[in-house]
Amino acid sequence: MTPTHQNAASDEYPDGDLDTEAPFERESSDQDEILPFDVPITVDADDIPKQRIHQDALRVVSRLVRSGFEAYLVGGCVRDLLLGRKPKDFDIATAAHPRQIRRLFRNARIIGRRFKLAHIYYGDHILETATFRRQPEATDDDDLLITDDNVFGSAAEDARRRDFKINGLFLDPVEGLIHDYVGGLDDLEDGILSTIGDPRTRMAEDPVRILRAIKFATRLGFEIEDDTWDAMCEFSGELERAAPPRILEEIMRLCLSGTALGAFRMMRACGALSVLIPGISDFLGPVGDPDPKSHDRADSYWRLLEALDSDVHAGREPSRALCLAIMWLRVIEREASPKTRTLPGEPDDLFSVVTEVLDPLVQDSRLPRRTFILTRRMIVDQQRMRDLPGNDPRALVFTTTEGFPEALNLFRIRSAAWGQGWDIYEAWRAVEAEMADLPESEIEALRKRGRRRQKRRPRRRKRPNSPMDEPSDRSD
Ligand code: ATP
Ligand code: MG
Repeated sequence: MTPTHQNAASDEYPDGDLDTEAPFERESSDQDEILPFDVPITVDADDIPKQRIHQDALRVVSRLVRSGFEAYLVGGCVRDLLLGRKPKDFDIATAAHPRQIRRLFRNARIIGRRFKLAHIYYGDHILETATFRRQPEATDDDDLLITDDNVFGSAAEDARRRDFKINGLFLDPVEGLIHDYVGGLDDLEDGILSTIGDPRTRMAEDPVRILRAIKFATRLGFEIEDDTWDAMCEFSGELERAAPPRILEEIMRLCLSGTALGAFRMMRACGALSVLIPGISDFLGPVGDPDPKSHDRADSYWRLLEALDSDVHAGREPSRALCLAIMWLRVIEREASPKTRTLPGEPDDLFSVVTEVLDPLVQDSRLPRRTFILTRRMIVDQQRMRDLPGNDPRALVFTTTEGFPEALNLFRIRSAAWGQGWDIYEAWRAVEAEMADLPESEIEALRKRGRRRQKRRPRRRKRPNSPMDEPSDRSD
């Protein structure tokens, strides 16, 4: 450990004011000649058993430290370890520069053009190892948006350029110590999410932090500190300037988080939803709209998200296409009906309406075309699933098509959301299971019979009131 890593008492962390319940024990303080601003609170990391830290992460940090470089585990993994959660990955920050890292680790590769960092490979396990950086200087007085982010700095500077206090903790796994430059330990104890530094500045610098705040608060069940929340509301309009693919990525993560319902409600409350996904925001209507139709529409939407969350909690991993289908299903079905359509012109068939509504996402957010096609397929297939499969050979063959399992997943989730259609779901599932055991030759024979039947009979029109029409369809 380097000598700078001593404890300091400052006004913010008065010595002798220790909560005896606190899980972290503070070490003796030595603040002589050390600027309080650059000195961390250091506590024992006894609560984090070494076996919870990935061996490869330990190896990387130990080697860097043995070679004379400061090095720590940082960010989400330290937060999660302290909360008793399993970290997704172990990120490392070090004083070593990318080229020095490369020299130390033959299994390292430097990646990134503007923001260079090292990926250290152990088989297919990758450890992201970044050099300490500091907050870049604002280039224009009026515009705080960060566009360059690659200036090396000290550990203290690296901690302070991070977004939220709970994400700014450093763990030294060799010495078994946690260094807190930003007040992250207090926030973790109190279940609070707050920015490092002035919330307004931090949100203006990078408005995507608004979505990150929502992600962490809902995932961890933390309360967003008042000033941070106010800044999120004030700067939600700035999200318009963020790169659409990055926004899409954050929204997908919210969908997959198991707390999509809370996250979308929070996005709506702070104004982010109307900026980022106006189609969904318009569908939900204004917050607190007294119009019962609007209330019903919002309610049916929330119930879908709730059902998606239940799926995640049950251990299923919804695909991105499925998440998108759930997000947009109600909006698309509304636009596909002449009675409820809000877009100009008469609606074409469902297939075209999906394209009409989701096309901007494909264009601006670089949504992979394949994901879009899967989503469209799933939504269009819902029409075929509204009726019992019966013995129609076309229905039987339909269950063997590539997109069927995902379409059935969507059907299951909407049945769970609205408590309707379980009998139909079970019937389709039974047919799917039966067909799975059938040899290909018999499926082919059914396909031929289906084609003959299609030629004989014109397509049946959609029933006006199917059991799968959700509550708001009735009230529209
Ligand atoms: P997760 O468990 O979702 O991966 P995480 O905290 O590890 O959460 P990452 O997106 O992996 O989040 O980022 C790693 C760390 O980098 C964060 O903990 C934070 O310290 C820092 N960071 C990430 N994004 C930003 C940002 N937009 N502004 C400032 N710091 C950030
Ligand atoms: Mg992470």
